[in-house]
Order: sequence, then structure tokens, then C-alpha cells
Amino acid sequence: MTIDTCNFKDLKAIVRVDFNVPLDENGKITDDTRIRGALPTLKKILSDGGSLIIMSHMGKPKGKVNAKFSLGQIVDAVSEKLGVPVQFAPDCAKAGEAAAALKPGEVLLLENLRFYPEEEGKPVGIDKEDPAYKEAKEAMKQSQKEFAKTLASYADVYVNDAFGTAHRKHASTAVIADSFDKDHKMLGYLMEKEVKAVNNVLNNIQRPFTAIMGGSKVSTKIGIIENLMDKVDNLILCGGMTYTFAKALGGEVGQSICEEDKLDLALSIIEKAKEKGVNLVLGTDCVAGDAFSNDCNTQVLSVKAIPAGWEGLDAGPETRKTFAAAIEGAKTILWNGPAGVFEFDNFAAGSKAIADAIAKATAEGAFSLIGGGDSVACINKFGMADQVSYISTGGGALLEAIEGKVLPGIAAIEG
Ligand code: AMP
Repeated sequence: MTIDTCNFKDLKAIVRVDFNVPLDENGKITDDTRIRGALPTLKKILSDGGSLIIMSHMGKPKGKVNAKFSLGQIVDAVSEKLGVPVQFAPDCAKAGEAAAALKPGEVLLLENLRFYPEEEGKPVGIDKEDPAYKEAKEAMKQSQKEFAKTLASYADVYVNDAFGTAHRKHASTAVIADSFDKDHKMLGYLMEKEVKAVNNVLNNIQRPFTAIMGGSKVSTKIGIIENLMDKVDNLILCGGMTYTFAKALGGEVGQSICEEDKLDLALSIIEKAKEKGVNLVLGTDCVAGDAFSNDCNTQVLSVKAIPAGWEGLDAGPETRKTFAAAIEGAKTILWNGPAGVFEFDNFAAGSKAIADAIAKATAEGAFSLIGGGDSVACINKFGMADQVSYISTGGGALLEAIEGKVLPGIAAIEG
């Protein structure tokens, strides 16, 4: 069943959304992107004549009730965006009566799922090293199933539209799906879009395919780099990773971020790229600073000749040109992680050059997917979000999908 083909008339739908929105100290929403992202799914259900039970987590209350993370704070905002009144269930595990009383067109928002440890299924108050941990984990698994069944009992249909948590096997993201047959569970529109975008860069590749991996460390990106190596034509590795490669190749990197224990790994990536015929593009020059701050002194240096007291903080002018050349002719583009410390305006030029090249290629018909944390902040900082094909809402979920892992939230529905 799909969200488009399902007619929700007179059905109660329980929808897992990601309403983990940032709030200021007065409980006011500072960025409502996530609420807006779920609206097409929620509105489709209401306009079909169904009723809605909306569930989400917010923050990390670690299995305990905590007013700071109450979804009660966003009831008015959700109501305003949906254009209908929204009822609130202050205990997500005791909402049976309120759910049963819902009439077509009515909406019930459940309190934060993570007020119950069963949502994440992790035993609380017991150390992993404790001999009793295994038993506690088994017991928690059982109560997680019960919790998921309680949530499922509120509705006729289950919809998962929370891509941000799709890589987690939680009660509301995966376990609950066991209570519904395949005609009564489906992905929401946002999830469908995310899955399609990932599919475009992993399985439906138009060539040439250029992937740009940046950020601070090789160690956190290695799984993705290895998976992409079998798929891409050009692989740009930039950001802090640059200096681990430069050092591995015999360079001096001064105070630059460098993973000394990953030098061999860097060399093996270079070898693998050669074997597979992948054009590996590494930075050659950088903008170095004499401190980790926006207004330190700067100079352009070779990435292999950075003196003590200096650190590479952005891609240099020659590197920016090489990167742009590998991006501009591409037909499929994936960008994760900045080329420098873009948060400092004086070290954002490398990332801006990448964003410009992606925008140009996209205008010429390439499919570009941007995602995974900082690159989204980066593209937003440059005000260029509308010049790329797709910006993923998933951080960890997107990265795991690109690594080739099966996401439990999607597998639970698609099998
Ligand atoms: P990640 O979370 O691994 O994607 O890393 C993103 C972070 O890497 C951003 O906050 C950047 O400021 C940082 N970063 C990028 N290039 C460098 C660099 N050359 N030195 C230090 N940090 C960097």
C-alpha cells in the first residue's frame, strides 16, 4: 500500500513524524522545517476523511518525563499549520480512549514517545558492563513489544514519515509495524521522497557521478567512502580529511586536524581508487590559519608543507578549481560534509565553490543530493537550498543509507 493509493476515509491513522524541532528558552519553535516536512502526509489523511494520531520524539529525555521535552509546547504550532484544532494526549501509552473518540478530520498529538524507555528499547539505570544487563535488555525487548502494541491499538493504519529516525529500530519506527499487515502500513510522502533521492544516487546513477565527502575525519566517513568507491566516477575528499591524506603521502601538516592512526587507511583508499578506476580528487593547496578562529592570520600553502603553528582550515584557490571541474560535468552528485571550517566566514570559500559548482551542474540537468548534517547548514548559509535537487532531512539515517545499510524503519514496511 502507498500513501497515494490509500483512501483514509473513516480510518484512524497513526503517523510517526519527526517533530524534534529546536525550541528557544521560552519553548518557542526556532525552526519549523520538520513540521512543514510532514504536512503533505498529514493533510492527505485528513482530506480523505481519516482521523490522525500523530506521534514523535523530542530531544533526549532518556526514558523519563521531562517538561522541557514536552510535545505539549508545539500543539498550537501544529494546529496552526494543519488548519484544524489539535487535541493533546499527555501520556502516549494511555491514549486509547482519546484515540477511540476521534471522528473523521480530528487530530490527536501524543506526548513525547521517549518519556518511555520502551520507545528506544534500552534498559535504563543499568550499566552495559553489569552482569544483569543482558537479562534487563531481554526484559526491555519484551516491554518494547507491548508498548508498540499499545500504540498500534489506537489505529487502523500505520504511516512512517520520520526519515530522521529510520535508522533506529524503535517501538514507533519499526516494532509497531509488526501489528499491521502490508495493506495497512506505508511510508509517508517525505519518506518516499527521501528513499527515492537515495535510490537515485545509489541505484539509478546517471554518469558521470561525483561524490564529495568532507567534514572533519576519515574515521567517521570510511564506511561511506568504501561503499561509494564501487559506484562513483569522481570522489572528492576534502575538509579535515585532507591532512590525514597529506601526512600519509609524506607531507608536513603543522597543527592541521590529522588522524595519525588512519594514515595506512588513507593510503589504502588511494590504492583502492586506482584499482577501481575512480578519479580520487584530493586538495593540493589550502588556506591555513595561525589559530582556530575566524580572524586569525591566513596564508595559502601546499597541503603538504604546512609549518608548525599553522593549520589548514579551508581548500585553497587551486583546489577549488579542481573540485569545481570534477563537479561541473557530473550528472549525479552527492555532497556530505564541508570543505573547510565554513562556520567561520573567512574559511567558507572552499565549501562555497563546491555549492556553486553543484548549482551549475544542477541547472544543467544533474541530480544533486545534499545531506548529512553540516552540508545542509552550509547550503543554507549560502542561501542556495533552492539550487540543488534534493536536501535530505536525515543526518545519521542518510549516511547509513548511503553506506548501503538497510534502514529498519523502511524494512519494517517494505519487508
Ligand atoms: P563532520 O561532522 O565530520 O561532517 O564535520 C563537519 C565539521 O568539520 C564542520 O564543523 C567543519 O567546521 C569541520 N571541518 C571542516 N574542515 C576542517 C578543517 N580543515 N579543520 C578542522 N575542522 C574542519
